[in-house]
Amino acid sequence: MSKIIEVEHLHQPGGWLSPGYLELGEGGVILSVSGTRPDRGVDERLSGFGVPGLSNLHSHAFQRALAGRTEFITGALTEDNLWTWRKAMYRLVDRLTPEDYEAVAALVYLEMLQFGMTGVCEFHYVHHRKGGAPHDNPAEMSDRLIAAADRTGLGLTLLPVLYAHGGIGKPVEETQRRFVHSVDDYLRLIETLRSRRADNPHLQVGVALHSLRAVAPDEVKAALAGIEAIDREARLHIHVSETTHEVREVEAGLGARPIQWLLDNVGLDPRWCLVHATHMDASEIAGAAASGAVAGICPLTEATMGDGFFALPEYHDAGGAWGIGTDSHYCTSTAEELRILEVGKRLHLNRRNVIARPHPEGAAVHSGRLLFDTALEGGEQASGQGGGALVAGRRADLVILDPDSHVLLGHGPQTVLDAWILGGTQNPVRDVMVAGQWVIRDRHHPEERAIRDGWKQAAARLFA
Ligand SMILES: [Zn+2]
Repeated sequence: MSKIIEVEHLHQPGGWLSPGYLELGEGGVILSVSGTRPDRGVDERLSGFGVPGLSNLHSHAFQRALAGRTEFITGALTEDNLWTWRKAMYRLVDRLTPEDYEAVAALVYLEMLQFGMTGVCEFHYVHHRKGGAPHDNPAEMSDRLIAAADRTGLGLTLLPVLYAHGGIGKPVEETQRRFVHSVDDYLRLIETLRSRRADNPHLQVGVALHSLRAVAPDEVKAALAGIEAIDREARLHIHVSETTHEVREVEAGLGARPIQWLLDNVGLDPRWCLVHATHMDASEIAGAAASGAVAGICPLTEATMGDGFFALPEYHDAGGAWGIGTDSHYCTSTAEELRILEVGKRLHLNRRNVIARPHPEGAAVHSGRLLFDTALEGGEQASGQGGGALVAGRRADLVILDPDSHVLLGHGPQTVLDAWILGGTQNPVRDVMVAGQWVIRDRHHPEERAIRDGWKQAAARLFA
């Protein structure tokens, strides 16, 4: 039996229905959407603004534990960037147990839901025990992430990471042994995780190559050939061009800038998510945008690391798809990530509304709406979870924004997304549905207290 939900204002591609009626079927799929009240009446009526849930396209859940713990310098420090931060991250990796991994992931997944995200792409590289021996269950750490997603109700695209080297032509460091697989063992892990989908219909399993620093060209090609044989639709994620240091290393080692190397040697297409893609030259911007790959921008993490500015207007104008990830989770808010992306670029370029372009008929073009809609499409493309729009056939991922929250007071559909994303800091997310199931009601999750307690215990162990 289907269920009908009336929403006061319902986000639609290109506009709004006020009110809108969503018919939800078995399996959490949207059967129909209408602006006309159905004859049979409605099962539930919601005030406020109903928008699609966003898929967060890049996460390392465990790194949430480091937020706020690396914001100082010591007297001996001569440089401070991603590479120095990484040493602190590796010290955390050395202590991380499977229990910690699950506890931290549950907290960060809960936070994502509370800020209006309904799916995540988890770029997961801490696979083994300290020293590199596999767990008795080689998929132990992956299963912990699946458990955290199940517990919170967040949609998961699990991306086990292939990692083989400590840099181009360099052996791995001691801490990195927890990350390493041969290509064959890696493909076996992918097969094992795909088997988990039998009792977990919303789990997606994709592929992640850590970077061109950590995976050699022959391994890149072997892994892609192996995946092609298993799943031709699998999403393919890679860290690329985050820092100028990485660009120089790849250029010296492989003879081309990282994105150019991918374009020339493996080919990019819409299955690919280029995580960061911060430092692209004009030819890489044109090539990556034309390939249909999604750029996976992680605005607050990149800002916190001092990585540099993504070429937002250039890439957007070239027709490039992009979405946002919260990466190290200095922020888990849809609105704040999109805001720093837009306003950071305004600071950089000394102008306002950096991606909005004039409408041919002179209509207003709203930056909040444009940022949100582009990130929705990019997130869905990178995650393959089946949501991203409130239209028939998509997964019913619905986020209700509270019209009584301070940031939205007095706003109507025309400006509500500008108000949420660019107009204030209070979080207006009130209710969140994933695959037809309410997971957040009136800002709270039923497991919230237990998840917070689990996190506090993990933090006490990790930072004793
Ligand atoms: Zn990352």
